[in-house]
Amino acid sequence: MLIKLSLISLVTLASAAPSTTTSTSAASTPTAAPLLPIPAFSGTFANAYPPVDKTAPTDTPLVKQWLAELNLTAMPDFPPTKFNSGGDLENPNSVPADTCDWTVTNCINKDITNCPKRTWGLTYDDGPTEFSPQLYDFLDTTDQKATLFYIGSNVVTNWQAARRACAAGYHIAVHTWSHNPSTTLTNEQFVAEIKYTELAIKELCGITPTYFRPPYGDIDNRIRGLLVQMGYTSVIWDIDTNDWMMAPGGTRTEAQVDAAFDQWVAGAANLTEGHVCLEHELYQNTVNAAIKNLPKIQLTWKAMPVAACVNDAHPYQEKNITLATLDGAQTGSGAAVKSLSASVVAAAAVAIAAASFGL
Ligand SMILES: [Zn+2]
Repeated sequence: MLIKLSLISLVTLASAAPSTTTSTSAASTPTAAPLLPIPAFSGTFANAYPPVDKTAPTDTPLVKQWLAELNLTAMPDFPPTKFNSGGDLENPNSVPADTCDWTVTNCINKDITNCPKRTWGLTYDDGPTEFSPQLYDFLDTTDQKATLFYIGSNVVTNWQAARRACAAGYHIAVHTWSHNPSTTLTNEQFVAEIKYTELAIKELCGITPTYFRPPYGDIDNRIRGLLVQMGYTSVIWDIDTNDWMMAPGGTRTEAQVDAAFDQWVAGAANLTEGHVCLEHELYQNTVNAAIKNLPKIQLTWKAMPVAACVNDAHPYQEKNITLATLDGAQTGSGAAVKSLSASVVAAAAVAIAAASFGL
């Protein structure tokens, strides 16, 4: 799958090259009133972060501190996998079945893959990017919230867009620091990738995410065990727009993406489960496709963040922050779930439904 490595390089280009332009466009006035209080930010990060789009280092004092808080000896003793230069997992037949490796067998182990019947988990990966403000502008016009799986490197590069999304009450989640396949990383590297991304979001937004999506869906029980120790719930998807293949030189056309959405709309009435759909805020054309197709989704499904569809009102470590959920959400005309309004409430200690993997 050449496309995998192509995505890595294109993520690099998208996040690194246009950072100056991004900062300007992302600083435009948000159209939605802030719902969540976010801390002041001078534009200079207080913490030192790894180089963007590079695998996070494991020898810094911060990483050593994070590792000391975990029990790595309790992790399944699977060696990291290797991907070849074409982006394919090397020797997939040698990966033991008990690793429950999604890349090899689409194995799921309490990862979230679906929302309930007639609900649509609206997710956008790989942001924030220079194109994100266009997407957020559109979502704000219908008060539509989504789960945004952020790449840490992009968060520190396009921090204005990240702060806008946090303040508007979008569900912010983690998608690693450098977008490597998770199972190729050592335990220490994976922890560093999660925690640096988490720290950047905390510094910018005052919140600590608890939801994670693995790049390329690449996850196994070793990675799941590390996620549980760090307090994360993993999210995959059950339908994939393959919108990222519309990148320059890619093999997916806008018409094909539109047709996929049309098919999902047409089949909605016959399903006993809802969807979690994979989309990206990565390129101009993926944002265009998202904007074009969302209205028909809203007319057919109740679209909402993943945390909302599983009725998790507290998707951050800060349990005094409450986001509306499926059962608690206000629904508007056209069956679009109106804003999953966020409010700060008294610090009720509501334990997040952390997955127990029984590893
Ligand atoms: Zn991704």
